[in-house]
Amino acid sequence: MEYRLIAETYEKVEGTTKRLEMTDYLVQLFQSTPPEIIDRVIYLTQGKLYADYLGVELGLAEKLAIKAISKSTGIRENAMKDMLRRYGDLGIVAEEAIKKKRQTTLFSFEEEKKLTVEKVYENFEKIARAEGEGSQDRKIQLLAELLNLASPLEARYIVRTVEGKLRLGIADMTILDALSIAFGGSKELRSFVERAYNIHPDLGFIAKKLAVEGIEGVKGIKIQLGIPIRAMLAERLPSLEEILAKMGGRAAFEYKYDGMRIQGHVGKKIWLYSRRLENLTSQFPDVVEALKEAFKGEEGIFDGEAVPVDINTGELLPFQVVSHRRGRKYGIEKAMEDYPVVLFLFDVLYLDGEDLTQKPYPERRKILERVIQPTDRVKFAHRIVSSDISEIKDFFNHAIEDGCEGLVAKNVGEESIYRAGAREFLWIKYKKDYKVEMGDTVDLVVVGAFAGKGRRKGTYGALLMAAYNPEKDRFETVCKLGSGFTDEQLAHLPKKFEELKIEKRHPRVWSKMDADYWFVPKVVLEVIGAEITLSPTHTCARDVVEKGSGLAIRFPRFTGRWRDDKSPEEATTTKELVEMYRNQIKKMG
Ligand code: ATP
Repeated sequence: MEYRLIAETYEKVEGTTKRLEMTDYLVQLFQSTPPEIIDRVIYLTQGKLYADYLGVELGLAEKLAIKAISKSTGIRENAMKDMLRRYGDLGIVAEEAIKKKRQTTLFSFEEEKKLTVEKVYENFEKIARAEGEGSQDRKIQLLAELLNLASPLEARYIVRTVEGKLRLGIADMTILDALSIAFGGSKELRSFVERAYNIHPDLGFIAKKLAVEGIEGVKGIKIQLGIPIRAMLAERLPSLEEILAKMGGRAAFEYKYDGMRIQGHVGKKIWLYSRRLENLTSQFPDVVEALKEAFKGEEGIFDGEAVPVDINTGELLPFQVVSHRRGRKYGIEKAMEDYPVVLFLFDVLYLDGEDLTQKPYPERRKILERVIQPTDRVKFAHRIVSSDISEIKDFFNHAIEDGCEGLVAKNVGEESIYRAGAREFLWIKYKKDYKVEMGDTVDLVVVGAFAGKGRRKGTYGALLMAAYNPEKDRFETVCKLGSGFTDEQLAHLPKKFEELKIEKRHPRVWSKMDADYWFVPKVVLEVIGAEITLSPTHTCARDVVEKGSGLAIRFPRFTGRWRDDKSPEEATTTKELVEMYRNQIKKMG
């Protein structure tokens, strides 16, 4: 199959923001794809080589990509860097470079060998897997080889993909739509395809089944140990009364632990997956061991929340403590000693060959309690089943006291299946009111902004907010603020900040973040957040509470008040934020 077809589809997709049009382009592409390579075509349209959970990353360093373009076109690297500064996108640089090459070569490109999807995928895969001595040269060679065969348009997308920056914004759901239409003639297949995707979230795999075996192949896709299942999510309602009513007057109420969601697949081998289906197995060897010890069956898939616990007091610790462990390559042993983790299990999705997701929750919970022998490290989510509002409120207070975020109510009726990938009212969360945690609003100064993506294209995606440090007379960043704005306000933001725009970071702004736009610190906004946390990225009160950390506001939201009455120097100070942080810690005990 010619790669040209993919490149042309990308270009059309980029030219529209309408989902239906996007779907149409994909349908055409899938229909002209031979079934045996449809999986590769699907991964490529997502800028990947495999399903995410396999963790194979395509992300060639910019400087290597520049070398490859230079090698292929004969244009010097420095000239290329100038072009990159001009265009800000190496894909466009590659496109222009190939155009130039064509203008200056007499060779007729009409006769050249066509670049195939197979070849592109093969070289991408070799680039992703190249390791060790000489691998950089090999990667350059592999990319240059593709560029030698590429048209300018193809070069644009090859380079973006290999850099891991394709970002066409095609949602998985759009691909599922397109697949259903391409292979079923309509969206009728959609529910089967979606179910398959929810229990086996690998679009390439599903597409191939569909293309080769038809809908029967898709219906035959089953839960498989080792392949993550998309997590079931919770809706929210503002009061326990409403939740109880919505649940039909009676429900299970479980502690809502504030840790990290973990899906454990336990058999001869063990896998742990995050809520976003990343493979976490190597980061939590202690959880792996604990699950192995607690599980009494052959093969099982469990859903739960991992929370760091103080081994002396049994107290649950805040989430940021456990986040230190994530992504950490070294010192896992030490992290395990410092922050031992308890896994609170709340569901079982699969047991010894049987899919349990279609059974009601009370039955699943019974099975869970039968096959798991609780230990110090694996426990069941604490819960009550109740129809008594005062008992539920009391239970909620206990949850907060015990360091949880609130409760998750769970439907106990016949309909209470495990709806993989869905956020519906079978589960409803109720969290502690944010105001209780942060106590008060803060007034922060806008010092920069980030370009919007998706629906926010053309305006700002978020503002970079700072607190004032009077001792140093500077503004120190504390959060990226993206919510709480009306659509109208959002659309108006670039205009509002136009006159404050400056080329570089303002000298009185201290930031470790690289904003897309910088402003003269002037505008003050009132912000409320969920809580104040330690932050490696923000500079607010850096090194004051903890060496190497600043403070950040978690889940900041604009209250709607522009504090035009305040000068930037009258904004909340870094010292005040330190106080608020300390009070919050005190409250948590
Ligand atoms: P939040 O930030 O509120 O956790 P979320 O979008 O990550 O939201 P939701 O499904 O909306 O996830 O809320 C439920 C989340 O709460 C789960 O993803 C899980 O991580 C966590 N959780 C903690 N305890 C439980 C429990 N007992 N049952 C289900 N989820 C729980």
